Amino acid sequence: MTNDNLYQLLHSRFPADENAAFLDHARGTLGYRDADEAGARIAAVLAEAGVGKGARVVVQVAKSPEAVTLYLACLRLGAVFVPLNPAYTAAEVGYFLADASPRVLVCDPAREGELAASAPADTRLLTLGADGAGTLVQAADAAPPRWEIARCAGDDLAAIVYTSGTTGRSKGAMLTHANLAVNALELHEIWHWEPGDVLLHALPIFHVHGLFVALHCAMLNASRVIFLDRFDAAQVIARLPEATVMMGVPTFYTRLLERDDFSRETCAGMRLFISGSAPLLAETHTRFRARTGHTILERYGMSEAGMITSNPYAGARVAGTVGFALPSVRLRIADEAGRPVPPGTVGVLEITGPNVFAGYWQMPEKTAAEHRDDGWFITGDMAVMDETGRVSIVGRARDLVISGGLNVYPKEVETEIDQLPGVAESAVIGVAHPDFGEAVVAVVARAPATQSATQSGATQPDDRQPLDEAAIGTALADRLAPFKRPKRVVFVDELPRNTMGKVQKNQLRERFADLFRGPRPSAAPR
Ligand code: AMP
Repeated sequence: MTNDNLYQLLHSRFPADENAAFLDHARGTLGYRDADEAGARIAAVLAEAGVGKGARVVVQVAKSPEAVTLYLACLRLGAVFVPLNPAYTAAEVGYFLADASPRVLVCDPAREGELAASAPADTRLLTLGADGAGTLVQAADAAPPRWEIARCAGDDLAAIVYTSGTTGRSKGAMLTHANLAVNALELHEIWHWEPGDVLLHALPIFHVHGLFVALHCAMLNASRVIFLDRFDAAQVIARLPEATVMMGVPTFYTRLLERDDFSRETCAGMRLFISGSAPLLAETHTRFRARTGHTILERYGMSEAGMITSNPYAGARVAGTVGFALPSVRLRIADEAGRPVPPGTVGVLEITGPNVFAGYWQMPEKTAAEHRDDGWFITGDMAVMDETGRVSIVGRARDLVISGGLNVYPKEVETEIDQLPGVAESAVIGVAHPDFGEAVVAVVARAPATQSATQSGATQPDDRQPLDEAAIGTALADRLAPFKRPKRVVFVDELPRNTMGKVQKNQLRERFADLFRGPRPSAAPR
């Protein structure tokens, strides 16, 4: 009988050389064999705490090699790994604990007291610090390794990943061993992983990108991983010459480009730069190629399905597009009723395939609401597909602006604004408006050279500055139909982003909610 436990697959690909390096980190190097053993010892500790198949283990810790071995230990036991962003407050963690009812919570030693109060009575608390210290490793060091790899079916749960959920309660996407395995094998193949590849890893590991996409590919390839605590441009530039593959969010690439010491030579040994989790600006794509000679490969995915599309390794990697459906993923762009729309038409991106999650944890209604009757998952992203099947993401459906009854896709407006001289980047949002229902509002960050030294927060345009609201209005006049043009342009120092580089449009919507309310509602529209 086969064992579909993901760890069985990963383990089968570990290098034959017992000394082969896995995680090369700030405190030393953890070999594949040692990672396997460390995971087996942690598995023993967890098992002793009552963790068996299907039990949840909630983990809110800093990025560390021990956190990776903790993940491997959970897989080994057939337990359900539930990673949380270390930035969550105790109150937020309290919600996840109540929702996931874990057998074990692993948290930073510094937060033990605070989190103990929010943990259910029957949840055992263990600690793990960024330096590896804490009760988990202490106990693991003294435990005999538990080598057994629990027998799992493909549809057994391996992880619950809570979506960043900008509205309402965060939902736990249930991912199975098969979801993760199929996706990892496909990515390993389509991105042409080669013997000797070295991955530079600067992503967080509480998220699909850094934990599943990056680490699974590396493990399937028996690769060495340059495992950095976090993204630091100087450190990345120092280590890139040793690497061949890097995965990043778009901000990594813009930050690298800001540095004069980031050059073609830095990237001489690189084979592949991959970007995802948020849209990569076409400008970044172009500047990166001009500076380094490398064309960033952009892909698209989400917590609920891992990776969904990718630009081709060998074919054209087109800026502003996320490429084609992965081999096992079926994809359609549909109207509100789930009917496919013709190529070139914007619609909702819907998918089906072995990578698609098993539903939201304890939320059958939400799960049903986000699936069509024929079982296809409604991603919530608006997209357009060309005749060849190449996909471009237009934005989240909830970010769509409906102004005077007409649909405005923020990406289209942002793309026009981003091209204007003096603009660093923009975010287009809908704001309640007495006449239009919603009005298009552009939030613009000026390029550094044009930013006023005294500006902070949202400001009104200033006559002395070359880039102001009027200038943007004039520039857009012959590029966009009137209903798509911003009714207001506001300037900020920078756009709010989360750790994964996603612009937090909900924060912008809240911040500018009253733009058209108050004493002069009719002064705003132009
Ligand atoms: P998460 O579940 O946190 O990984 O967020 C998934 C969401 O990120 C997707 O539904 C998209 O809205 C967005 N996303 C991921 N990759 C891309 C990309 N390459 N371009 C545009 N949006 C992306």
